[in-house]
Amino acid sequence: MKEPLGATGLMLNEPLLWEKGKKGRCAFSLPRRDVEPRPLDRELTGEGPDFPDLSEVDIVRHYTRLSQWNFGVDTGMYPLGSCTMKYNPKTNEKQASLPGFTGAHPLLPADLCQGALRMMFELEQYLAEITGMDAITLQPAAGAHGELCGMLLIHAYHKSKGSQRSKIIVPDTAHGTNPASAALFGYRPVPVTSNEQGMLSPEAVAELMDEDTAGIMVTNPNTLGLFEENIREIAEIVHSKGGLVYCDGANVNAVMGIVKMGETGVDVMQLNLHKTFSTPHGGGGPGSGPVCVNKHLEPFLPVPRVVEENGKYALSENYPESIGKLQAFHGSFGVMIKAYSYICSMGPENLKKASQLAVLNANYVKEKLKGTLHLPYDRPCMHECVFSDKDQAADNVTTLDMAKRLMDYGFHPPTIYFPLVVHGAIMVEPTETESKENIDQFIEAFKAIAREAGQSADLLHGAPKNCKVKRLDEVTAARKPCLAG
Ligand SMILES: *Cc1c(COP(=O)(O)O)cnc(C)c1O
Repeated sequence: MKEPLGATGLMLNEPLLWEKGKKGRCAFSLPRRDVEPRPLDRELTGEGPDFPDLSEVDIVRHYTRLSQWNFGVDTGMYPLGSCTMKYNPKTNEKQASLPGFTGAHPLLPADLCQGALRMMFELEQYLAEITGMDAITLQPAAGAHGELCGMLLIHAYHKSKGSQRSKIIVPDTAHGTNPASAALFGYRPVPVTSNEQGMLSPEAVAELMDEDTAGIMVTNPNTLGLFEENIREIAEIVHSKGGLVYCDGANVNAVMGIVKMGETGVDVMQLNLHKTFSTPHGGGGPGSGPVCVNKHLEPFLPVPRVVEENGKYALSENYPESIGKLQAFHGSFGVMIKAYSYICSMGPENLKKASQLAVLNANYVKEKLKGTLHLPYDRPCMHECVFSDKDQAADNVTTLDMAKRLMDYGFHPPTIYFPLVVHGAIMVEPTETESKENIDQFIEAFKAIAREAGQSADLLHGAPKNCKVKRLDEVTAARKPCLAG
């Protein structure tokens, strides 16, 4: 293979600022004082904090070096399955930083922020078009927050029908946040096992569905990267008992312009703007998890809602059945602008193409690596594919060893040990933004690692070798975290 990407070269060590400082150093120079010193400052503030004395160059190099230890989508491929760590065009950041948007106070009267309201209104319309749903709230701050909003909406719907239901069906291929959100709300998640093809079967759902079950939460495409083909039939079964279908649509980047989830029987779903719609994420946000609903759930959406009349936009609280407010002000406004800008700059054809390329790239990785890594579900995948470490078990090499070694080759590891339905899972999501050359290099790196596994397990147990931080003692790190630095 070509020279691996990973190298240490001029990656420099850097101590803490306190170890680096030297008494009397200063990062700026001022003209000599021409007045007598007064004890005022000390009297007012007491002893100053124990900050190190540093020169300007000390400070600049400190933070620059630390930034070079970082790895992000702008550095290299980041194939973290289920997270959609794709490259986001910088133009969308630029629109989000326009002074008219960044300077707009969320309490401005509607007359003074027509542009901002119109942007939100049109974004809702675009998302409704993409999902085939009828109405949207932009309030939730993230995917899981959207799920919680969905549970509140489902509850409000049942309540309006005079019924109280206590359970919700959650397949084993759902994202981990699904049962958590259901339980946080107060529903009891009832697990259902997917079949040997990684699919949810209508029979299994029919067996569990009853009139005390509020509905089902389906991640589609599911966490195996597979499209739930029986979703329509499942929706019919759930509806026939008065339940509702929640779709975790965090992975809509696999189906934009191809499947309208509203047409598959889904009643409510969330999107993750920070995955599919051009907001870089990781490290804590901000995110945005709009919730899309069918007509019959619309009355319950959070308030305030953006409304339009004769070309004038306003915020309305006039929804008596609303579940109320979910967020301070209107949600993550900056993330909405990026999504709006992304959708406008792509247009319908290119959004569809983005999904097609995401699916093509994942299937390419799957086909190229399936002789190297065990592929538990050998069928066409969506935007991600899931392998396991079964074939390396005889060499005493695990998923963790291979993931760590991948860093020596210059790649961020894929998602590992998730989904739980696959033992030793390796979940790769290349995304639509990686070129064939980059993906080929990733594939070659994995093949080289599999060869190494056959030759020297020790090499892999000691990985990563080239990284700034070596193999961490994860158990001690979790049990006795050292938070003092
Ligand atoms: C990422 C993800 C979530 C959670 O989204 P957050 O924004 O992290 O709360 C939920 N479901 C699926 C399928 C996801 O990929």
